[in-house]
Amino acid sequence: MPDLMEAVTSLAKRRGIAFQSSEIYGGLRSSWDYGPLGVELRRNIRNAWWRSTVQLRDDVVGLEAAIIMSPRVRAASGHLDTFHDPLVECLNCHQRFREDHLTDRVCPNCGNTSFTEPRQFNLMLKTYLGPLEDDDAVAYLRPETAQGMFVDFSIVQTSARKKLPFGVAQIGKSFRNEITPSNFIFRTREFEQMEMEYFVEPGTDETWYEYWIDRRLSWYHDLGVSKDKLRLRRHEPDELAHYAKAATDIEYEFPFGWSELEGVANRTDYDLRHHTEASGEDLTYFDQETKERYFPYVVEPAVGVDRALLVFLLDAYREEQAPTAKGGTDTRTVLGLHRDLAPVKVAVLPLSRNDALVPEAKRVHELVRHAWIATYDDAGAIGRRYRRQDEAGTPFCVTVDFDSLQDRQVTVRERDTMQQDRIPIENLVSFLRERL
Ligand code: ATP
Repeated sequence: MPDLMEAVTSLAKRRGIAFQSSEIYGGLRSSWDYGPLGVELRRNIRNAWWRSTVQLRDDVVGLEAAIIMSPRVRAASGHLDTFHDPLVECLNCHQRFREDHLTDRVCPNCGNTSFTEPRQFNLMLKTYLGPLEDDDAVAYLRPETAQGMFVDFSIVQTSARKKLPFGVAQIGKSFRNEITPSNFIFRTREFEQMEMEYFVEPGTDETWYEYWIDRRLSWYHDLGVSKDKLRLRRHEPDELAHYAKAATDIEYEFPFGWSELEGVANRTDYDLRHHTEASGEDLTYFDQETKERYFPYVVEPAVGVDRALLVFLLDAYREEQAPTAKGGTDTRTVLGLHRDLAPVKVAVLPLSRNDALVPEAKRVHELVRHAWIATYDDAGAIGRRYRRQDEAGTPFCVTVDFDSLQDRQVTVRERDTMQQDRIPIENLVSFLRERL
């Protein structure tokens, strides 16, 4: 495909999945809005993550912490002092870049090769609380959701009566004042994260670290992402974040190259220890069996909803030749999304807007929408409507035609095979349930 990124960005806009924010004002470079299909896709991604991380496990519970926390949290977590990226400015065109993102120290804008000395730039977005904009009122929008799980560790552990090992999971917005937001929704200043802090006994951390790398990679495989486009990249000691003993990126082969999709880190006891020292509150764990008290180690898988969504779109996008009703072929665009992710599961299509057909088609729509997100589309030729649903990734189309009124059957068409089955209306929900 000539330019997959362009094809996906344009499909996302055309179909109301994701598009530039504030577009009527010329847009804001790093902000994107999600439209009707995007909203459903995001919900499905979150749900799939929550299901595998929390719902199907006995050892992980949920948390929703505040985005704006005490500024003391950021001092203790090390984000105030060390959450920096190296910023350089091109001496010719004066554009600014992240030094570690430059290839061969060449300006991507003008090709110049001389830059200012790197300056450490703190990535946290700052705000002021209350009416006075003075130093005492400074607060930060969280740059990761993780700190909520650390500062609330004891209250969650005791209220949920959890023994090690156990995890706390959270989904929510994070903010980073990225120097170079880029590549559609890949890198933005406002994004949503799905993070889990898994607390373990020190000494068992390396085993759990490998376990979570494996689990997280399988999650993508299970949701249909091409295996040959995913790989693991273990960090070199000199690139580790200030809190980490080891880190591995799950990378995806994006059209712009292999890049991080998800990070799994062994954060040791860095965070619990620092919050204990800074707050004076004891965040150790008491092991009832061994009667020992210690700081648990932490293994953290962390991924962005937006970045995962981009991967699911890129990986699912395909253009193929398909037969037309007139006996020729044309190109059909398909989003081959996994059924759990597909924004709309079923489309109900009356063959025409004929008065006799409509009530029956509406009844069929009522029947399926109680079980799934289902749409009703009666605009245009049936072939065009099938194509519209293919492009949105809808796994099943249900067509109600004149025969349906007599034989109480409908035609169910499957997205990938385009196979059509005639199904009694009374069996429709169970037929779809088996396949969804
Ligand atoms: P990078 O080095 O690319 O800036 P990072 O290593 O700092 O990223 P992490 O702190 O490990 O990123 O964040 C965990 C996950 O959160 C990332 O794997 C990614 O999926 C998501 N993420 C982080 N920053 C952004 C961003 N600016 N926009 C969108 N998603 C992001």
